[in-house]
Amino acid sequence: MRTRSTRRRFVLGLGRAFGATALSAVAARVLRGGSPDAEFIQPPHRYGWQINPERCTFCNRCERACVRSPSAVKAVNDQKKCSNCVACYGHLRDLRTPSHLIATTEDLVCPHRAVLRSELFGGMDGAYLYTIDADRCTGCAECARLCNRLGSRSMFMVIRPDLCLGCNDCAIARACPSGAVERVPLFPVDDFRGEYMPDQPW
Ligand code: SF4
Ligand code: SF4
Ligand code: SF4
Repeated sequence: MRTRSTRRRFVLGLGRAFGATALSAVAARVLRGGSPDAEFIQPPHRYGWQINPERCTFCNRCERACVRSPSAVKAVNDQKKCSNCVACYGHLRDLRTPSHLIATTEDLVCPHRAVLRSELFGGMDGAYLYTIDADRCTGCAECARLCNRLGSRSMFMVIRPDLCLGCNDCAIARACPSGAVERVPLFPVDDFRGEYMPDQPW
């Protein structure tokens, strides 16, 4: 009995010693002015995967190859490049559709109605804003493919850092036929901050 209780005291003492050492290390950092959170929560180098827009051919494998379902890959529309057309190649299947019917037509590019269209100014034949509803987008790349082939090339595909699991071996990188998915270092500023919008839109 005495041996067991002595061992227990020894183990408890060891635990306390470790705890005290860890706490004093944190305290020392705080006293030095460093942030304990930054050091303990975030590793100094964080890696993720991203799509090189120069290489992506919008083949649509991103939609099914990702280990996440729906895929961590989403379309985005760069508002600095978008021409804000009445009829958008990434939104509407038939660009001959009369402008007064576009708002109600069912003949849309996106099978999930994730490409959203809203009026900016000028009425029916004015300027329109196109954005992607990421909750509906499955990453099929069809809107971006048409925009890049026929339009102003403002739509493209991204692996969303806030959705990606950061797999060691990205399944999309293995499946991509054009080697467009690259492993890149990530920093806090790289975390997804919403649609690519200019500071002063209009
Ligand atoms: S067409 Fe495909 S990539 Fe574009 S918004 Fe719809 S689901 Fe996403
Ligand atoms: S790293 Fe994993 S979760 Fe992220 S895009 Fe690739 S397969 Fe999907
Ligand atoms: S698999 Fe590669 S080429 Fe195909 S859409 Fe994804 S990134 Fe683009």
